[in-house]
Amino acid sequence: MKMSKMGVKPEKLASKEADTINHKLLVQAGFVRQLMAGVYTYLPLGLRVLRKIENIVREEMDAIGGEEILMPMLHPAEIWKKTGGWDSIDVLFKLKSRTDRDYALGQSQEEVVTPTMKEFIKSYRDLPRMPYHIQWKFRDELRSKSGILRGREFLMKDMYSFHLDQADFDRFYEVAKQAYLKIYARMGLQAKVTEASGGAFSEKISYEFEVLTDAGEANILYCDSCEFCVNIDDITSYKEGDKCPKCGNSKLKPSIASEVGNVFDLGDKYSKAFDLKVATSTGEQIYPIMGCYGIGVSRTMGVIVEKFHDDKGILWPAEVAPYTVHLIDIKQQEKAQEIYNLLDSKNIEVLWDDREINVGGKFSDADLIGCPWRVIVSDKSLTTNEIEVKARQSDEPEMMSLEQFISRLKGD
Ligand code: ATP
Ligand code: MG
Repeated sequence: MKMSKMGVKPEKLASKEADTINHKLLVQAGFVRQLMAGVYTYLPLGLRVLRKIENIVREEMDAIGGEEILMPMLHPAEIWKKTGGWDSIDVLFKLKSRTDRDYALGQSQEEVVTPTMKEFIKSYRDLPRMPYHIQWKFRDELRSKSGILRGREFLMKDMYSFHLDQADFDRFYEVAKQAYLKIYARMGLQAKVTEASGGAFSEKISYEFEVLTDAGEANILYCDSCEFCVNIDDITSYKEGDKCPKCGNSKLKPSIASEVGNVFDLGDKYSKAFDLKVATSTGEQIYPIMGCYGIGVSRTMGVIVEKFHDDKGILWPAEVAPYTVHLIDIKQQEKAQEIYNLLDSKNIEVLWDDREINVGGKFSDADLIGCPWRVIVSDKSLTTNEIEVKARQSDEPEMMSLEQFISRLKGD
């Protein structure tokens, strides 16, 4: 992509209204624009990052047997009345049509997925099933703040699972948990996993995936040596300084964190509400146990910026970076074009700053946008055939041939 052709450019100064780093940097670098509190437009750079996160999530959900579908955002009121959500869910956006019918905007999709799967799940042979989708959600959040961390409209991956019994849910929960940890690790994030809030007899067991950051809203106690954490907003018997009950190696420390995903054991609440029954191997009719598994795709993008930035801009982890290489030419357009074409032919994603602006401006924009590698084509490149390469997080540029750079990127 040539920056001269991009309609959106980074700004020199950050907006004053931003209350968090992700808001400030994502707006300043030209990734998003706020339409109103909690509602954002994803500009070309921002959309590339969002799609990369989405694709990592998709690959890992497919790998554990997820079946991708796409459910609607506009729902008839009836399905929400059936489960009681119409009156009890305070964040549910409700709207009326001109013929006075009531509708809701999807804040989650149990009410859609359960009646849909009822058509296809008839016997124990049809289980387990794990449909999922990646779709915008709407929530009437009272305080939409912290940039894209808490939206009124936000992108979520939600998977729903249907099991013959609790043991099979427990088995799959463990599989999903490992997939979640893999997803976050691919994005450079280390997620802590909360203990179940509630015991075996509680109505609902949930697990949260928390990333430590001051921009979050969860108060947790966590262990440095393993993934253990507890949310101290729930009642918990743990306190600061307690030995980690999981690994025993460290003492629990307090922190603020952002919830980037969670898992709920839904029991038979929704299968009962929609009368989804299956026949067991002995012919008995039972209600399957359901689980739901959320990942805040857009929130995760914000959390990545909160974790990976410096005073000059963003430092995108390689797998989610909008482009791998930020190419800057110092008036060597032809050579830069040659390099651009070659990198492109090797499927290396390049953002080429070919604008007629001063070099200092190009450098500061490259730092702000935060692609993992900066490549400079200068006079020297013409005589020595070498380019200047610098990793975003490093202060030490290195001269090397294009071939050496390509092998470094490919990890040879
Ligand atoms: P929170 O406690 O942060 O409000 P939640 O418990 O309401 O989250 P879920 O309903 O389980 O969250 O949604 C699944 C995931 O979607 C969350 O783990 C989070 O990552 C993300 N999410 C929830 N609400 C928002 C929001 N308003 N904006 C952005 N992402 C959100
Ligand atoms: Mg919420």
